Amino acid sequence: MSDATWQPFVQHCADAGLQIDTNVAMAQRTTYGVGGSAAVVVVVHSESDAVALSRAVAQCQVDNIVVIGRGSNVLVSDEGFGGVVVLLGAVSPDSAVGIEGDVVQAGGSVLMPVLARRSVGAGRGGLEWCVGIPGTVGGAVRMNAGGHGAEMVDNLIDARLVSLKSGNVCVVPNADLGLHFRGSALSQHHVVLSARFQTSNITPEEGTATINSVVAWRREHQPGGRNAGSVFVNPAQGEGSAGALIDGASLRGYSRGNAVVSEKHANFIQANEHATAADVVAVMTDVQQKVFEIHGIMLRSEVALVGFDASIAERFSDPRHSALEQNDARAHLSRLLGDL
Ligand SMILES: Cc1cc2nc3c(=O)[nH]c(=O)nc-3n(C[C@H](O)[C@H](O)[C@H](O)COP(=O)(O)OP(=O)(O)OC[C@H]3O[C@@H](n4cnc5c(N)ncnc54)[C@H](O)[C@@H]3O)c2cc1C
Repeated sequence: MSDATWQPFVQHCADAGLQIDTNVAMAQRTTYGVGGSAAVVVVVHSESDAVALSRAVAQCQVDNIVVIGRGSNVLVSDEGFGGVVVLLGAVSPDSAVGIEGDVVQAGGSVLMPVLARRSVGAGRGGLEWCVGIPGTVGGAVRMNAGGHGAEMVDNLIDARLVSLKSGNVCVVPNADLGLHFRGSALSQHHVVLSARFQTSNITPEEGTATINSVVAWRREHQPGGRNAGSVFVNPAQGEGSAGALIDGASLRGYSRGNAVVSEKHANFIQANEHATAADVVAVMTDVQQKVFEIHGIMLRSEVALVGFDASIAERFSDPRHSALEQNDARAHLSRLLGDL
């Protein structure tokens, strides 16, 4: 759509007092630091903003929407994204984590390391592993992020969601979120506003020691620089980790353009200076192909591909996300949120 085509939507949002901008460079919004611009960006600062946005979406029949948190699991195409990017406004990290008894609540835009450290500081345990995830609580719920033997589904009580399709806000229990390995039943128009976690008693000293060991492990095993963590999702149980399969194809250091398979972690693809999203996708394509030739296993992307051709998105999409039970979970969640 051209700028003129977006004008009614932009006007609608502006009239509702929403923070909206057009033609916004997305590179600085993702940890890959590559890619083009989004046609429209709306920043949601409150629940009522989100509901107002849903009215504009319905009025203008917008269906190309993506929510971006820290952008640590996203690759935006060089051509950009011809739709609406929704960002959760900056909220003070100090005020956005609330602790009541053994329940910790956090806003969707709270960074996971902040969640971990604030919980530990208050003597609440179980979320220490979150210090290793450089994303937001909202993105982590959507992805069922995990590491160090834990994942979101373990501690999550419920999440407060808004559907940008129906405008309904609903607190959805863990069991209805369809959380599975690095995925959930959330659709693109579902926004995590906040989440609540069950925690246990610990001393701040115990928690700090765990946090320090997670941070040390990450420094030792994962590269710095521009990447989105593990690119490929682990295949089915018993087929080895994606990283081990890539290692089995001797692909550490493999590069196309300015993107390269990390020497430190085979499942990380680094975007070096002057890298483009196309470079990253070229490395992904070759890695997928070579691993298939050697191991007969088709790796699928954990990283969300935004603004790419359907054929590229299809090549990397994980069929497990569209398995029958996941479709059922998605339909159930959509019913809860009044989308259907
Ligand atoms: C160095 C590094 C290490 C990493 N290690 C791990 C790891 O150990 N384990 C792991 O699981 N992941 C890991 N990741 C990936 C990433 O940090 C997680 O997936 C994280 O949860 C993504 O959060 P985000 O806010 O950056 O989401 P984004 O990357 O912005 O978005 C990811 C997905 O979530 C959706 N989304 C974002 N915010 C919201 C919201 N508020 N409501 C609804 N949907 C939303 C997006 O539409 C997209 O589909 C790593 C990444 C990096 C760069």
